[in-house]
Amino acid sequence: MKAPDFDYLLPASLDAALAMLAEHGGEAMPLAGGQSLMPMMNFRVAAPEVLIDLANLSELRGISIEGDTIRIGAMTRYAELMADADVQKHIPIFGLALPHIAHDAIRNRGTIGGSIALADPAAEMPALLRALNAIVEAEGPDGTRMINADDFFLGMFETALDGELIKALHIPVATSEQRFGFHELTQRHGDYALAGVAVVQTSNTYRAAFFGVADRATRVPDLEQALEQQDDMASVLEHLGNIDFTDDLKANHTTRQRLAGVALKRALKGMTV
Ligand SMILES: Cc1cc2nc3c(=O)[nH]c(=O)nc-3n(C[C@H](O)[C@H](O)[C@H](O)COP(=O)(O)OP(=O)(O)OC[C@H]3O[C@@H](n4cnc5c(N)ncnc54)[C@H](O)[C@@H]3O)c2cc1C
Repeated sequence: MKAPDFDYLLPASLDAALAMLAEHGGEAMPLAGGQSLMPMMNFRVAAPEVLIDLANLSELRGISIEGDTIRIGAMTRYAELMADADVQKHIPIFGLALPHIAHDAIRNRGTIGGSIALADPAAEMPALLRALNAIVEAEGPDGTRMINADDFFLGMFETALDGELIKALHIPVATSEQRFGFHELTQRHGDYALAGVAVVQTSNTYRAAFFGVADRATRVPDLEQALEQQDDMASVLEHLGNIDFTDDLKANHTTRQRLAGVALKRALKGMTV
């Protein structure tokens, strides 16, 4: 199927894009890589009357080190992240995770900002940002808001954005006390995960964010605490029971809980610096 008719706008600056967004309100949607939005329009899951293409916004591009943080523009594509030396050095968990996101063709167009804004519960990037304790920089009519990734994902395809655009992501650079783990289980390589987890260990503290298991990227404080206390694995896995697991045609909640446990054990076993 083809997408329903829409008007196409190509702003030259972030201010112009925000003005267009404010003018058209709920009838407009930003367009980044189009790898989710265009299929959604073709399937009539989304039918915006106006598309505001972010392609020419230089304010949403670039990767830079700012003190102990790496700032990544929202329009940075997965393929650019995979090729960037600073990202490889300072966010090593991206090297573990990015090859699992879709396929080359989609990684060549899909953007980090698009993934975060979409908030697909099975996507890798929201969980990575929660595990990394990242900050989302949002720009709106009232200025800039810095939103902790823990407060950003409100539910399935639902975020804390309020008439705003994601401008950039701020991610703490890796330190010598940190180790990283990542594992996901899919039916085929490149598919969305049935269950997966991103783990960041800093000295003896843990941040473990699961994806594909519930309505959003999910951390379980009791489970992280059990890891910190070095509880036996059976006790750690019991805390997965705190997750409100998704039931769907691909896997019921019991299967998903088992898969989440397998993913966690494998991620912990493969922890790297
Ligand atoms: C076959 C296939 C397999 C895939 N597999 C995976 C996978 O395994 N894992 C995974 O994570 N993803 C997967 N994807 C999705 C892919 O990663 C998308 O590229 C990504 O989710 C959205 O990025 P995008 O840049 O294409 O955004 P778009 O599709 O352009 O936009 C997505 C949404 O975000 C909004 N948006 C975009 N940018 C901004 C911004 N800066 N500020 C505010 N709102 C914004 C748009 O309005 C839209 O609602 C797959 C897609 C396909 C087609």
